[in-house]
Amino acid sequence: MDLDQFLDQPQCGFFSGGEFISPISRQPIKLISPATGKFWKAIVPAYKDDVQCALQSAHLAFSDWKRLPAPQRGAYLRNIGALIQEYAEKFAWVMAMEMGKPVSQGISEARYTAGYFGWFAGEAERIYGQTIPSQFPDKRLSIHYEPIGVAAMITPWNFPLAMAGRKIAAALAAGCTAINKPAAETPMTMLLFAEICRLAQLPPGVVNILPGDAKTISQVLLDAPLVRKLSFTGSTAVGKLLFRQSADTLKKLTLELGGNAPLLVFDDADLKKAVQGTIESKFRNNGQTCVCPNRILVQAGIARAYIKALKEAVENLKCGDPFDPHVDLSPILHPSAQDKFDKHSADALQKGAHLESKSENGIVLSGIGKEMAVWSEETFGPLAPIATFNTEEEGIALANDTAFGLCAYFFTENLSRAARIAEALEAGIIGINDGVPSSYQASFGGIKSSGFGREGGPTGIKEYLNEKFISLKI
Ligand code: NAP
Repeated sequence: MDLDQFLDQPQCGFFSGGEFISPISRQPIKLISPATGKFWKAIVPAYKDDVQCALQSAHLAFSDWKRLPAPQRGAYLRNIGALIQEYAEKFAWVMAMEMGKPVSQGISEARYTAGYFGWFAGEAERIYGQTIPSQFPDKRLSIHYEPIGVAAMITPWNFPLAMAGRKIAAALAAGCTAINKPAAETPMTMLLFAEICRLAQLPPGVVNILPGDAKTISQVLLDAPLVRKLSFTGSTAVGKLLFRQSADTLKKLTLELGGNAPLLVFDDADLKKAVQGTIESKFRNNGQTCVCPNRILVQAGIARAYIKALKEAVENLKCGDPFDPHVDLSPILHPSAQDKFDKHSADALQKGAHLESKSENGIVLSGIGKEMAVWSEETFGPLAPIATFNTEEEGIALANDTAFGLCAYFFTENLSRAARIAEALEAGIIGINDGVPSSYQASFGGIKSSGFGREGGPTGIKEYLNEKFISLKI
């Protein structure tokens, strides 16, 4: 079966032990596309017993996969990455169907994900240990890294391929096997990924994709002592819940949670760069990204010019059919994002914010303050709320006035200021004159209520490794 035939099937089973499984009596879940408003695919959910079976498959596969020499694991990863690249348009089409993401952004997401597979293919060969001189002449001390075991991954709908793909790439490189529960809205993207794993002839059980009821699936995975790692990307509320639920089996955790990113524009910023960076970071994926600026803080001297230029840039974006390769924005927001967007805009306006611009592309507000919901809560939509500040100290204090700490951006042409501000901002990722800092070569992750653990970069693989110290007396 080629990929077109795969995608043309009216129904798709869950993926476990290297096969798509559709028990005859199982009631499938019908997916309605928000892009077309029509039923487009039925998905077979995994039940409790299916999760147990997938777990056994992943556990069985682990013993061989971890022993496979690193260059061979890397070769599988490179092949999967190459196939994701080759079929980037198919992934983009599925994402447009499932969540209304513009296809140009879906293609970028597929390429970004393929980058992680290429990166971790190399990282598999760079799991360096250490030897340490002992104070005793007859002792040899060394530190070794070993794969942690079966890794569970629970992922959100906003970047359905990248969020799961970068976890799976790191886990497989380390020698772990993986079970992913994709979001209810976007199971098909990851089932297409499962088909890619099959095409790459990945051994059965190394990757398992289980759509279905979140609580049921996560409960089995969290209760299972065999699952040694949980990597979660999603809201802070659910992250905290999973943290508590995994306490009894003491799993190693990576929690990639919500954000409330500040974006600062200083008087000495290059206006063009600042506006372009704001558009890229705020309006990508309709503002439904965890690293999206949620509060735009502009120094008084540049505020007027910045607001004027930002309004124009927002109004010039092209909103339209997600299948049109030339659109920047899709009119489709996730229902929960639409709800927050409406509530935050109304709340800010009612509390005195000034409406600078309103179009199908989004809303620009100025004069926002701490009393407004948008100051402390993640909007997850195309709302650009602006406040002004006078001094550098004030700007930093406002930026850090949040429980979250995933990403922060600022724009300045002053090198010394750039160094000062980067050190002062409380966030795991900093973009200086850069609206899209995320890249597979560097670590991605937050602090404070944005979670802990890192993905990608030189440290991402450690999330899936145990450290073992060996003392040899000779
Ligand atoms: P969410 O509601 O937390 O859902 C994320 C995943 O958790 C989904 O697979 C969901 O399954 C599952 N889930 C929900 N409730 C659960 C429960 N009680 N037990 C076990 N699993 C459960 O988040 P979302 O609304 O989909 O995603 C948006 C959030 O993710 C935002 O806050 C955003 O900032 C954050 N995010 C963070 C990052 C990062 O890297 N830090 C990246 C992207 C997004 P169902 O879909 O089946 O309910």
